[in-house]
Amino acid sequence: MASSASPLPGAPYLHHAHGELHLEGVALSQLALQYGTPLFAYSKAAMLHALGAYQKGLAGRKATICYAMKANSNLAILQLFARAGCGFDVVSGGELARVLAAGGRADQVIFSGVGKTRQEMEHALKAGIACFNVESLAELEVLNEVALRVGRRAPVSLRVNPNVDAKTHPYISTGLKGNKFGISHEDAVAAYVHAGQLQGLEVVGIDCHIGSQITEVGPYLDTADRILDLVQAIEATGVTLKHLDFGGGLGINYRGEQPPQADALWALLLAKLDARGFGQRHLVIEPGRSLVGNAGICLTEVLYLKPGETKHFCIVDAAMNDLPRPAMYQAHHHIEAVRPRSGAAVTYDVVGPVCESGDWLGRDRDLTVQAGDVLAVCSTGAYCVAMGSNYNTRNRPAEVLVDGNQVHLIRQRETPQDQWRQEVLLP
Ligand SMILES: *Cc1c(COP(=O)(O)O)cnc(C)c1O
Repeated sequence: MASSASPLPGAPYLHHAHGELHLEGVALSQLALQYGTPLFAYSKAAMLHALGAYQKGLAGRKATICYAMKANSNLAILQLFARAGCGFDVVSGGELARVLAAGGRADQVIFSGVGKTRQEMEHALKAGIACFNVESLAELEVLNEVALRVGRRAPVSLRVNPNVDAKTHPYISTGLKGNKFGISHEDAVAAYVHAGQLQGLEVVGIDCHIGSQITEVGPYLDTADRILDLVQAIEATGVTLKHLDFGGGLGINYRGEQPPQADALWALLLAKLDARGFGQRHLVIEPGRSLVGNAGICLTEVLYLKPGETKHFCIVDAAMNDLPRPAMYQAHHHIEAVRPRSGAAVTYDVVGPVCESGDWLGRDRDLTVQAGDVLAVCSTGAYCVAMGSNYNTRNRPAEVLVDGNQVHLIRQRETPQDQWRQEVLLP
């Protein structure tokens, strides 16, 4: 468990006031009462603060912050970031459609992912996106072919795999050899020379992304060195790279982790770029989790307390379909009652109603709770709702955005009819 000395994940926007948990100026018990549970609530100020740290870190440079929207793709959140000047990193045609629906600019969109379809490429080309982050030689050929057919040159960057250990969970580490992402460091120069010869393509940059929930600066600095070495080798062949994209991956506080602040990290990276003569290049970054993760909480009601012989269970109304990270990655989310009670704590496994033993939200948590109490599951702004499903025909939860004392409903709670709208009965 996180030590009591470590700050509440989501602080200062998530905080105790008048004896209960608040998100900005709103009491969480009140939110649960008004909107029902399970409910996801996001602090607008927390998201803008997180973005602000990157903007501060990159102030005075040519830079584009492309929010990796797979972390949380709610339209209102995209709109908030678009209004704050963000571009977007998309990984599907669906995500590009969301950006455009939310008022984002296509020319600030970069398109990542190992499996883009021809149709997705064509749509993105016609929309006029800023760059395709290409992940294989085969994809380079297909993109060239699509571009020639559509009659537009496709701006491309190659995602290179710098073979750096991000020192994170194996499922979210992406920069090592033997992983499906990117083009190997060794093959990169030849791949650039080849890309430069394809008529449908315009080489514009280089990119990398070494993993997620990175809490140390070392892997970033190593990556920067490896990428700059490559840039020198590539440019020696006569290809010019207008932008350098360092990906995303910065971690957040789930259980007391203390990742570097984005501005502090960028001060170090910029010092390195300046020292090596690359400080004036156009820089692109793709942060996801670090912009939204600590801004969100999930409110869930305790349905039953079920004592057991070896374990006690606290059964709540949120489940792995709403919040899949514990089931998927054994991830830890801090959990506490929104209105603390006095009395002795009991150690519970906090579990959902889904018919799977893997449906748990927290293990061995000391809680003083009764049925009907509302719990806050913290640091749930990233990779929770976005990874959710309708398993067990559970409705997707409602989502709200908190702005000071104001609350905006940004996603209505789903109904069963919403769920089966696309299904067709037999004649
Ligand atoms: C997921 C992803 C990101 C964002 O990662 P975070 O850890 O959420 O910051 C950035 N770039 C690419 C290519 C990704 O796949």
